[in-house]
Amino acid sequence: MLCRRLRYSLVPLVLIAALALLVLRSRLGIGSPSAELLRAWFRTPEIRPTLISRLAEPCPNAPFLLPSEGFVGFLYADPTAPYTPFAPHTGIDIFGDGAPGTVPVYAAYDGYLTRLPEWRSTVIIRHPSDPLQPERQIWTYYTHMASENGVQSYIVDDFPPGTSEKFVKRGTLLGYQGLYSGAPYRIGLHVHFSIVLSAPDGSFRNETHIGNTLDPSPYLGFNVDARRQPTLPVRCGS
Ligand SMILES: [Zn+2]
Repeated sequence: MLCRRLRYSLVPLVLIAALALLVLRSRLGIGSPSAELLRAWFRTPEIRPTLISRLAEPCPNAPFLLPSEGFVGFLYADPTAPYTPFAPHTGIDIFGDGAPGTVPVYAAYDGYLTRLPEWRSTVIIRHPSDPLQPERQIWTYYTHMASENGVQSYIVDDFPPGTSEKFVKRGTLLGYQGLYSGAPYRIGLHVHFSIVLSAPDGSFRNETHIGNTLDPSPYLGFNVDARRQPTLPVRCGS
């Protein structure tokens, strides 16, 4: 009897310990295929040229253009901080080598651009026909295009707040990489890019939930899924 009670009382302790271990792994970057290279990117800027991916054209047989030049250094479904195994990263972060407001960000694919009135650093593009599943509509989302304090937007003047459904071609300049996170933590210079599913009413779903997003790998032509041991830096076909 005593033994059974002891066993039951240990269950919550074991669960708490397992949870603490998961959080610790997340904080330390364990489980992230890019954590070590990302640290090197910021600590040793001389190595940056070896990590940068640049694509003037999409990869062969891939519909999307990599929307900015830089180190694809934080990957889709990465469970590490500031994300968690329960709420992993929903897109890819492309870290540019330059000053804030100077590294261009381009549309990944033809579509209709919207910038909500309150968006300082973000645009979203509606693609009525997913090039990989033509019967459905998807969206591509681009954010962090503003100064660290959010005062200066780096989105080009063609797309002021309140822009709705403006047609853009793949490769159209949208803005420049920035430092604005809109969150209480600081970020390094990058653009966050994700592919978002449509709701039944045709609007875009909440981009912060991974279940509302798609793995960008087949659209870009290289593996950016943190769960599938990607090769870094990314290259076409990797
Ligand atoms: Zn991101």
